[in-house]
Amino acid sequence: MKNIIIAIDIGGTTVKIGVISHFGQIIKKWEVNSDKSNNSIHIIDNVWDSILKQLSKMNMEQDNVIGIGIGAPGFVDNKAGLVYEAVNLGWEMFDLKEKFREKTDLPIFVENDANLAALGENWLGAGESAENLIAVTLGTGVGSGVIANGKILNGCNGTAGEIGHVIVDQQGYLCNCGRVGCLDTIASASGIVRVAEEYIQRNPNSQLARMKQQKHDLEAKDVFDIAKKGEEVSYKIIKRALDILGQALAYSASVINPSRILIGGGLSKAGDFLLDMLKENFTKYALPRIGNQCEVLLAKLGNDAGIIGAAYIVLNKTDTHILI
Ligand SMILES: [Zn+2]
Repeated sequence: MKNIIIAIDIGGTTVKIGVISHFGQIIKKWEVNSDKSNNSIHIIDNVWDSILKQLSKMNMEQDNVIGIGIGAPGFVDNKAGLVYEAVNLGWEMFDLKEKFREKTDLPIFVENDANLAALGENWLGAGESAENLIAVTLGTGVGSGVIANGKILNGCNGTAGEIGHVIVDQQGYLCNCGRVGCLDTIASASGIVRVAEEYIQRNPNSQLARMKQQKHDLEAKDVFDIAKKGEEVSYKIIKRALDILGQALAYSASVINPSRILIGGGLSKAGDFLLDMLKENFTKYALPRIGNQCEVLLAKLGNDAGIIGAAYIVLNKTDTHILI
């Protein structure tokens, strides 16, 4: 009987893998390290070997699998199953679907990781099956997925909804997409740390500068933590990042008129501190008719959003009845 889905969420540090029921229940989940040697070519073998081992441990076979859903970072053409470019992994024109096709005859579906997180959250998380939704993942980078009229937006070559690469500061920092001043360079975890380093040089006597001296490796979480306590310099950094993010989300919302905007990823752990400031900024910049109808909420599924979304696309694209 075919009743399970293999869900794979490939990231720059780890690959999250799940065996998921067609109810979206995670039966088993685990991670393998992303081996980035030789342009990350070993990831495919490592992931596939660990899946076969796990299925065997569970007394299951490939015959039980409805399909495989795979999320990958970077620019992904979901129709071709091709990763145009994933800078963190060193992949360029990487034929991800074909690489798995060499391993198995099971149906394989590939999608951008942030799009999967949006689909996962909309199926079983904070989206609650919204017809129009923007899901933003504030992690190492700014990922985003857009659902419009009930469907994930892919665009003509899979690059729709890349809100992280909207240019918001022409005098800003170089982004890993090769351009200058993308939202990603300001509102991501690495962006916040980079801005903090700059502010520290200008404010060497600040509490933030002292924190950096003690910790050496300053993290975005540290900047949020002392901003919450009212430290002036870090508060300024967070305020600016969330102002710019609110503005970019308001622009995006004017295109799809979403009922919900979900904020996930590591930075969302800052909770209401982040959310309240972001809501205020979003409302400030959004057309009132759009802002009034749109709830800005924290995502609910955490790190599982990607694999839940991967299961969703398998069910959706194989026309398996989706149960909620
Ligand atoms: Zn960019």
